[in-house]
Amino acid sequence: MPEVIMTGDFTVNPETGLINPARLCLSPNRDARPDDGALELVVLHGISLPPGQFGGPEIEAFFLNKLDWNAHPYFVEIHGMEVSAHLLIRRDGDLLQFVPFNERAWHAGQSHFRGHSNCNDFSIGIELEGEDETNYDDRQYNVLPAVLNALTTAYPQLTMRELAGHSDVAPGRKSDPGPAFDWLRLYNAVEELREKKD
Ligand SMILES: [Zn+2]
Repeated sequence: MPEVIMTGDFTVNPETGLINPARLCLSPNRDARPDDGALELVVLHGISLPPGQFGGPEIEAFFLNKLDWNAHPYFVEIHGMEVSAHLLIRRDGDLLQFVPFNERAWHAGQSHFRGHSNCNDFSIGIELEGEDETNYDDRQYNVLPAVLNALTTAYPQLTMRELAGHSDVAPGRKSDPGPAFDWLRLYNAVEELREKKD
């Protein structure tokens, strides 16, 4: 039996690389991690499609290569891009998994962390449905700490120090999750969860 690790409301199974409960929609935009691709980092992102609009099916369609490129003028700019993330947390707190954690998701692009390039090789990518200048939703601040708690329990080499924004690993090129994201609130919430567990 694979070891199943329970933390808060979420369970991460390091054998399968899956989190529960989550809606699983496997993205074709994934491949094997390199041999030395041990997990060293969690990258937080913000995404909305079309930009600034929430609640539609477009992000999911984008990660599944099913986005109708003609449906919105902005989609011309991202036409044909093949991207994904391991997880997406919607505004309502709904959790979707597109790539198992033991596989490589295509989320960070050209990036660096502590002297290592190509963060996709060794990171977990979490997208928050959001936009740089708009407050993230309370429900996302409830779900994200519980998800991080489950991940850092399942993969003990990951701690809250191995957490960065896309803007931190691709400075100048990417700005998400943006100034609207409240890092202190996240750290405090994770701390609270830990205290409850002890
Ligand atoms: Zn990003």
